[in-house]
Amino acid sequence: MKPLSKLALSTLSISVFIFFSACNFNQEKTPVEKVGQLSIDGVHLVDQKGKPIQLTGMSLFWSQWIGKYYNYDCIKWLKDDWKCTVVRAALAVGSGGYTTNPEKELEKIETVIDAAIDIGIYVIVDFHAHQAEFNLEAAKTFFGHISQKYGNYPNIIYEIYNEPLMVSWSEVIKPYSEAVIEVIRENDPNNIIVCGTPRWSQLVNEAALDPIDGENIAYTLHFYAGTHNKRLMEIGDEAIEKGLCIFVTEYGTTEANGDGPVYVSETLEWYEWMNKNKISHCNWSIADKAESSAALTIDADSLGGWGEDLIKPSGKLVRKELLKKYKQLLK
Ligand code: CA
Repeated sequence: MKPLSKLALSTLSISVFIFFSACNFNQEKTPVEKVGQLSIDGVHLVDQKGKPIQLTGMSLFWSQWIGKYYNYDCIKWLKDDWKCTVVRAALAVGSGGYTTNPEKELEKIETVIDAAIDIGIYVIVDFHAHQAEFNLEAAKTFFGHISQKYGNYPNIIYEIYNEPLMVSWSEVIKPYSEAVIEVIRENDPNNIIVCGTPRWSQLVNEAALDPIDGENIAYTLHFYAGTHNKRLMEIGDEAIEKGLCIFVTEYGTTEANGDGPVYVSETLEWYEWMNKNKISHCNWSIADKAESSAALTIDADSLGGWGEDLIKPSGKLVRKELLKKYKQLLK
């Protein structure tokens, strides 16, 4: 037999390399393949085997104002390059949102859901309102539709009320939540439902005194690192001690108005607190707005592919944490 020529040898080694690379690629599981059906066990969000996990990612901006990022390529970029294991689609309800243009806004949300399912990440379907108790019928219609269409997919997380104002948990938010949960549970018996809490989703301790009767219900705490400090962490601790599962569906590295400086050390303290308690989180926001909480520079491409020069300081700080958390989840 003739010895293999140099060319044949190098062709062979390249082929072998490509073959094994392809094998490795095929073996890499998506976050949803790895984690599977979520549930809540005590204060923890757990994977299909019952192990506590943390999902981490980015929130999109109000759908009616910055809808340009509600597309497949952007969501895929957020998974591939930002290593999001969850994204949040923020259905604007008022201010020209869903109650004005239901089909248009619904289409944006479904585009993000379909992308998340296709690429294997989780998606928070967020009813982005501050007075949702006045939009109960719209919420029931919306979540009835979403749960019927997507309730069999493990990817979906329902966030039924973004940020209530300073209203009573027991008198206002809890009855609203129970009415919406009832509609969802007719179609979807098990996916996670996240409830809003009083004072822009901060007073989880009030919900902890009078929790909702049901399975797989989490409660959201929102913080902005430049405004909210140790006192809000203590409120979170109180709720956890009473047995609530907290999900930070929205946080900012800035002040609560979404602007001002980026508070690096305060944000790192919040990461430490969330990591210690295994709390999942989404950062506000994927937006190209002239405010410091927006992750991207003005006119950053709608389809992703953002280089360093298009990512603002907040985005850089958050992305670093996301890369770390992705490795931990997928290891
Ligand atoms: Ca389900």
